[in-house]
Amino acid sequence: MKALVVGGAGYIGSHMVKHLCRSGVQVTVLDNLSSGYREAVVASAELVVGSAADANLLASLFARHRFDAVLHFASFIQVGESVADPAKYYANNVATTLTLLDAMRQADVRHFIFSSTAAVYGEPSYVPIDETHSKNPISPYGRSKWIVEQVLEDYDRAYGLKSVCLRYFNAAGADPEKELGERHVPETHLIPLVLQAASGRREAISVFGTDYDTPDGTCIRDYIHVADLCDAHALALDYLLAGGASMRFNLGNGQGFSVQEVIDTARRITGRKIAVRYEARRPGDPARLVADSRLARDVLGWKPKRAELTSIIADAWGWEQKWPW
Ligand code: UDP
Repeated sequence: MKALVVGGAGYIGSHMVKHLCRSGVQVTVLDNLSSGYREAVVASAELVVGSAADANLLASLFARHRFDAVLHFASFIQVGESVADPAKYYANNVATTLTLLDAMRQADVRHFIFSSTAAVYGEPSYVPIDETHSKNPISPYGRSKWIVEQVLEDYDRAYGLKSVCLRYFNAAGADPEKELGERHVPETHLIPLVLQAASGRREAISVFGTDYDTPDGTCIRDYIHVADLCDAHALALDYLLAGGASMRFNLGNGQGFSVQEVIDTARRITGRKIAVRYEARRPGDPARLVADSRLARDVLGWKPKRAELTSIIADAWGWEQKWPW
């Protein structure tokens, strides 16, 4: 089995590459290292440094390898930045994906796994959110992912390209073996920021909004361990290779935790003081985002193994303590 992992040097991609290599898949990583790290790619994978927007490079890669599937993790992910600079997001998250899909078509590679997001739903009209919930993304980031999902439906009908889109809720945690972890610059995600405050790399954690309609007034999110995300991708790959139809799945625990609960749990696990600054709401944050992931459980047989917030934070803390990486 051969797989091309685009964005395999990034946070989720690098964990997936390790997972695939462990299960005997021959992996080629294509990553331009704009936000990924060479050293995050395990030694058993081949790393090609380059862009998925480079059609010639893609053609040569697909000529050199007979890939059974492509997994696409390379995208920009900052919601605020996508509002300020949508062109950057549509170019990378949409146009580059179209170039990648063209190369797949030319090489007749018909299995595609796409990293999508809960942001395709926009402000939820009910929680937990299932896959049939209306799609009203409120940021160019969310819209860029939703556009690709729709393109993939057309490509299935017209070209027989089979895809699984995985709509991540809040990806978090780190490799339980502490080889890999989250390493965004700038870091904007709650759990790594809280742990940077615990380790002393950051003075305090800012809590964005304390007046939401939730029990403690802070936002509720569904945190899902990166290792559980990897399991879901591996199952999705098996599903597609066994002839499964194109599908979209939510990936979350189905359990929500508030920002305040995350901070309190991190205090318990780390035993450190974590200073908090209570601030105004961050624009565009829904009060509550929780996944209904029954479809992934029913169709793929996926079951998160590290669903507890404590295990997510403990693994992320293991990685934070290795800093500087
Ligand atoms: N958040 C926060 N302080 C921070 C970063 C995030 O209070 O420094 C909150 C944010 O408002 C949201 C939750 O933590 O309610 C998760 O945010 P994150 O950026 O990690 O993921 P998102 O839900 O935006 O994808």
